[in-house]
Amino acid sequence: MEIPETLCRQMLVFAKETLPNEACGLIGGFYDKAVRFYPTPNAAASPTRYCIDPQVLYETLQRIGEEGCSLVGIFHSHPYGPPTPSQTDVALAYYPQAVYLIASGLETHQPVLRAFRIIEGRVEEEPLIVQPTLSQTGRLPPTESKET
Ligand SMILES: [Zn+2]
Repeated sequence: MEIPETLCRQMLVFAKETLPNEACGLIGGFYDKAVRFYPTPNAAASPTRYCIDPQVLYETLQRIGEEGCSLVGIFHSHPYGPPTPSQTDVALAYYPQAVYLIASGLETHQPVLRAFRIIEGRVEEEPLIVQPTLSQTGRLPPTESKET
């Protein structure tokens, strides 16, 4: 999946703000290109699981559609776990067309963001192709940390 660097940062910042609980949100885009991040509240308000309220999910999917995009990714964080899908994540992966992005290591200087496809219980890592964001001057903004 191709993803702008700014979007990765938005997700990591949001995940950090949501500590100690898991953060979650949806990603709109085209095919395998991520365009926009839609943070959603974690209705479970838990450090070990997340849940998007059905009404919020519905409204966010509507917004993604209104902006001419489709759902390409589902983001959540593992504040105290590894950046890989948990058994629950695999069991509850209802969107085979979406890439599941998981952030971890949020309190470290090297937060991690990884992506997976979860189809019928099978997990495959999806490479994240992070695109540097050009600033208005046409130069690359300074990078504080590399998210790989
Ligand atoms: Zn999880």
